[in-house]
This record gives sequence, C-alpha cells and structure tokens, in this order.
Amino acid sequence: MKWIRLLWHNLKANVTGTAMRHDACGRYMNTVLVGAAAAVSVIAVSALAAPSQTVSSRAKANEGSRSMPNKVTKSDAEWKKELTPEEYQVARQKGTERAFTGKYWDCHTPGVYKCVCCGADLFNSNTKFDSGTGWPSFWAPMNKENVQANSDSTFGMTRTEVVCSHCGAHLGHVFDDGPAPTHLRYCINSASLKLDEKK
Ligand SMILES: [Zn+2]
Repeated sequence: MKWIRLLWHNLKANVTGTAMRHDACGRYMNTVLVGAAAAVSVIAVSALAAPSQTVSSRAKANEGSRSMPNKVTKSDAEWKKELTPEEYQVARQKGTERAFTGKYWDCHTPGVYKCVCCGADLFNSNTKFDSGTGWPSFWAPMNKENVQANSDSTFGMTRTEVVCSHCGAHLGHVFDDGPAPTHLRYCINSASLKLDEKK
C-alpha cells in the first residue's frame, strides 16, 4: 500500500504547510488537521477493505447461481439465543403464527423478504398478493434455490412444507390455488421473515 502512504504524506505536508501559514489561528487549524487526518484514514481503510468485499460478494453470487447454497448449521441453543421466542417457535419448531397477527400479512412495503434465521433472500414484495388468509402470501419464491419444498403429512393433511434451503427454517406451506402466472400460493409465516425495505 505504498501509494496510500505517499498520499498520506502529501496530504499531511499540504495541510501542515497551510497550518504554518495560518498559525495566527492555530486552534482552528489544529481542528482542520485532525479532521483531515480522520478523512485520510477513512480513505485508506476503504481502499484496503474494498477489494476483499468485492471478491466475497462475487463469490457469494456465484455460489447462489450454481447449485445448492451453503448450509447454515447452528445448534438449537444457538437459534434460541438469536431469535425471539415466537420466531424460534415458528422457524425452528415448525410452528404457525395465528392468522392476522403477524407483522407482514397486510404489509405493502416494497422490498425483499429474507430468512429471519440466516438472511437468505426468499421472496420479493412484487410477488406478494392479498390472499385473505391472514398470512403473507406470494405466488413465487425470489430464487428457487433458496426455497425448498418438503412433503408434510402432519395434522392428518397432506401438504407441502416450505423451508429455507440455507438453514432449514420452517417458512410455511405452498398450495396450488394461487394467482397467475404460477397459480401457486406460498403461505408464509411473518415470524420466519425479515423485510429488507427497498430504499
Ligand atoms: Zn434461512
């Protein structure tokens, strides 16, 4: 990072020069000097951090488009510690929140609904529709690789359970009475989701 050191010395020399020329208002210039130093540090840190960030996000994007995404494995105790009691009950214990009580069934804010446990992108608000069921409903997942369907025969019914492919979080169920174009209805618990609002 030779160029950063050079940049730092040049800037320091310039600012110090200015400070010396204006030493009558020394106090003010001291403040300017501290400010300039902080600004240069920020530039240097960003320059150092930027390349690794780009590589890692590129790697993640590639992983997602390849086959199965990376698995997130945590102990039950860890999930319990990280989630609220309701999120834990629904997402980790296959619970179901009561209809019309979750925070997203009537939400119309644009954005991406992520997994409450691991943050994987699950549903986009542009596939959300008012199903009248009291649960947030979508006609398609955002990315097929992030949402996995399992057969579920609990409670004397044959249904298709939907889970997060990354961490196995229980999301809800999928039914075939949804609107066009897919005619699917992903009936999802608000407690398993975290909306990342579109800015
Ligand atoms: Zn997840």
